[in-house]
Amino acid sequence: TERNREGYAPLYNPFEQFFSRYLYRRVRHCFNLPVTSTPAAEVTLKERATDDYNWTFRFTGEEKTYINLGSYNYLGFAEPRGECADAAEEAAKRYGLALASSRAELGTCNLHRELEKTTADFLGVEDAIVFGMGFATNSMGVPGLIGEGSLVISDENNHASLILGLRLARVTVRVFKHNDMKHLETLVRRAIVEGKWKRIVVVVEGVYSMEGSLVPLRALVALKKRYGLYLYLDEAHSVGAMGPRGRGVTDYSGVDPRDIDILMGTFTKSFGAAGGYIAGSRRLIDSVRARGHGHTYAHSMSPPVAAQVVAAMRAIASPAGAARVAVLRDNTRYFREKLRSLGVITFGHIDSPVVPMLVYTFSKMAATVERLQERRVATVGVGFPATPLNKARIRFCLSAAHNRAQLDECLAAIEAVADEIGLRYSRKA
Ligand code: PMP
Repeated sequence: TERNREGYAPLYNPFEQFFSRYLYRRVRHCFNLPVTSTPAAEVTLKERATDDYNWTFRFTGEEKTYINLGSYNYLGFAEPRGECADAAEEAAKRYGLALASSRAELGTCNLHRELEKTTADFLGVEDAIVFGMGFATNSMGVPGLIGEGSLVISDENNHASLILGLRLARVTVRVFKHNDMKHLETLVRRAIVEGKWKRIVVVVEGVYSMEGSLVPLRALVALKKRYGLYLYLDEAHSVGAMGPRGRGVTDYSGVDPRDIDILMGTFTKSFGAAGGYIAGSRRLIDSVRARGHGHTYAHSMSPPVAAQVVAAMRAIASPAGAARVAVLRDNTRYFREKLRSLGVITFGHIDSPVVPMLVYTFSKMAATVERLQERRVATVGVGFPATPLNKARIRFCLSAAHNRAQLDECLAAIEAVADEIGLRYSRKA
């Protein structure tokens, strides 16, 4: 193994170096393309004209407009005009972009409290607390909430922010197979027999960002009740997008939100904004205020962001907003069924707006992203470390902002590219 002059190991581990030198470098032209418009149904990207193989990118290329099948703009609220954009603009005029302080210091304005109240009402729980960054809501919130002596049983596909939070919490973590309630129950029973845990917390997501799968929430709540477990549910991809009223997987599955001890979500997807929340009982939220690092030591959420989310939540509760939720569901079903009939490998829950298409290798992932771009479709390829090394995929994200003509254009492009690259493993159609 490599050593530096003084005999110490290098800073980066050899696999990471191999990965960034030989794998990522060959596909990186698919990433980091500068966006020059809002990420709505269409998106404008700047092409990279120079393709030199070192890490300095020069964005000298042309601007081109694509159908956007890659951003998490599920309800179409990431838009330059409309009620949300107006509310954000007004807040920017009044408060500026930053209060230059943490929430516990001089960083709380009335919009923060309004957002917290609106979020709690939206979700049907007592209280909520909001943070400026979704990722940090998990990575700082988990250690603040899940104390020493806990056993955490975590789904194998949980997001990096949850995994980081669990590491920082310094609790024992055991992993159960994705969505496998039998395996989870086995681990729970074993833990109960051990008899040494102060509490057992199960950490899951609503809709999984790489699989498009849905948590079996009813079964999970039944297990919780039978064994006295606590539940932490990350609704980043499901709040706003799932359920007849867009309230997330509790709404979708007909589960009382108060049965979930810790509801977490982000404002970066369905609300077209930034940041995240933790919601639940008043006692829970009080303890996050007292113990969570994010409340005292991190800058508060930007006021225009809070204004945007309040407006988006109100809109979802109105008939026009409910119509957006319904359009998202129709678009998702339409796209997913058509994609399946192309004979490509796709999976996930029928109503999840995340639709993955498995391509297996990095090279096919890069080629698919590129060829789709040539056909005016912007998508996102995801691979290691977000997925296992041999399970690279394209992750399509549906939006209420898409119309049928745009979806048909995308599907025609995907069909052509799937033929070129060899992604049609069966031909049902
Ligand atoms: N949780 C999950 C499940 C996510 O997918 C993400 C990001 N996609 C986050 C948390 C982090 O949220 P944000 O991107 O808003 O920081």
